[in-house]
Amino acid sequence: PLADIGVTGLATMGRNLARNLARNGHVVAVHNRTQARTDALIAEHGSEGTFVPTSSLRELAAVLKRPRTVIVMVQAGAPTDEVLDQLAEVLEPGDIVVDGGNAHFIDTRRRESTLRERGIHFVGVGISGGEEGALNGPSIMPGGTPEAYQTLGPILESIAAKVDGTPCCTHVGPDGAGHFVKMVHNGIEYADMQLIAESYDLLRTVLGKTPAELAEIFRGWNEGDLESFLIEITAEVLATKDPRGDQPLVDVILDQAEQKGTGRWTVQIALDLGSPVSGIAEAVFARSLSAHAAQRAAARELLAGPTEAVSIDDPDTFVGDVRRALYASKVVAYAQGFDMIRAGSQLYDWNIDLGKIATIWRGGCIIRARFLDRIREAYEKRPDLPSLMVDPYFAKAVSEGQASWRRVVSVAAAAGVPVPGFSATLAFYDGLRRDRLPAALIQGMRDLFGAHTYRRIDADGTFHLDWSGDRSEREA
Ligand code: NDP
Repeated sequence: PLADIGVTGLATMGRNLARNLARNGHVVAVHNRTQARTDALIAEHGSEGTFVPTSSLRELAAVLKRPRTVIVMVQAGAPTDEVLDQLAEVLEPGDIVVDGGNAHFIDTRRRESTLRERGIHFVGVGISGGEEGALNGPSIMPGGTPEAYQTLGPILESIAAKVDGTPCCTHVGPDGAGHFVKMVHNGIEYADMQLIAESYDLLRTVLGKTPAELAEIFRGWNEGDLESFLIEITAEVLATKDPRGDQPLVDVILDQAEQKGTGRWTVQIALDLGSPVSGIAEAVFARSLSAHAAQRAAARELLAGPTEAVSIDDPDTFVGDVRRALYASKVVAYAQGFDMIRAGSQLYDWNIDLGKIATIWRGGCIIRARFLDRIREAYEKRPDLPSLMVDPYFAKAVSEGQASWRRVVSVAAAAGVPVPGFSATLAFYDGLRRDRLPAALIQGMRDLFGAHTYRRIDADGTFHLDWSGDRSEREA
């Protein structure tokens, strides 16, 4: 029989996606540049479903049902372009090419328009959930045309994670929309991890809790509003002992965080969009700072820390404060991410449904959490919500958490514990809710040194003051 779908690129991700497809009843044609990977897949997992091994892209094209659908799971960047060029030679107008790699959405837009000229539907698909998700159900964020989604959608939905029976896969929007949303997903993931790490640091430094005690605290937090994959694995990491000794594993891991680039992309693009994703940006910068080993070593010698110890009257109250601060900061970080998706959607005309994005992040992906159901509800109730922060549920949650949040940031400052995530998100909250901002003063300065003009609260138009002359105002 002809195959339903093809997969080329059978390293960790492609191999697991192909197995997931086959296990869900699809006939899967498989190909890899180096034949050995194809042979290994068939030898080790051939019995899990119906695979059609092929040894060239031409052969792959020949064994597929029309319109053909081929998922490309090769290394991101130049290798993807190479494979797409080769595929374009063997495919026909109407066929669908899917890039499931971690492509930058700008590359996806370029590839989509190149292949569109040849009549081929190019679909950039964000896939989250890592190796395990690819096999057992990832969260899938496909871009591309609605026509392509008609063919591709049911297949992807069949292999996606399910929450309450709903697949974690939806047509995000045209061209690069899927990869854009995956990028912001990763940015939010950075912020969430940073906020959890700050909570850990505070409780450990200020209260002197051990990693084992902290594992218990996080396990408890995983029962309520904070219930999420990231809190669950935090407890697991903290409870784990060094296999080479008896100390906690977290104490022997080098404290220099690495990054593969999607968090950085989120911040770069946010700057272009004018989207204030401060919680995400601080998370990316905190990883960079941690990796500056030489600067840290030099500074450790010279820069003074707090001279007075911070005393906490009631440790349990402080634990509760940190939990509420974490939740409030998390709301802000997610709100910033969703605002950025809206900004991208407006600029590129993607018409992204934010409620659907929250829906498909509820399962399969790294930021899966109970909380996303609340976000889904907020956008379903009001699709044009100006910010998650003003949805009644979230407004109440952050307002109720604010006293704890402020206490935690003050204690952190007094104790010399860096909490860039907590402070940046609290500043964002205050920036958003303040009646008047000092932006007025900035506008005044800009007009003084650069005649950049200002607007008034009591009259329409733009104005300039004759700063060096008689200080009269004229309309610009
Ligand atoms: P890798 O990124 O390690 O890529 C290896 C695969 O790419 C191999 O199949 C390799 O073929 C193929 N390849 C490399 N260069 C070429 C080329 N010039 N022509 C043809 N094939 C080439 O594989 P992963 O499975 O880790 O990831 C695949 C994609 O999925 C990447 O874009 C990655 O960013 C993304 N991704 C990965 C996740 C993960 O957790 N690993 C999660 C989500 C997305 P060969 O065997 O012949 O060398």
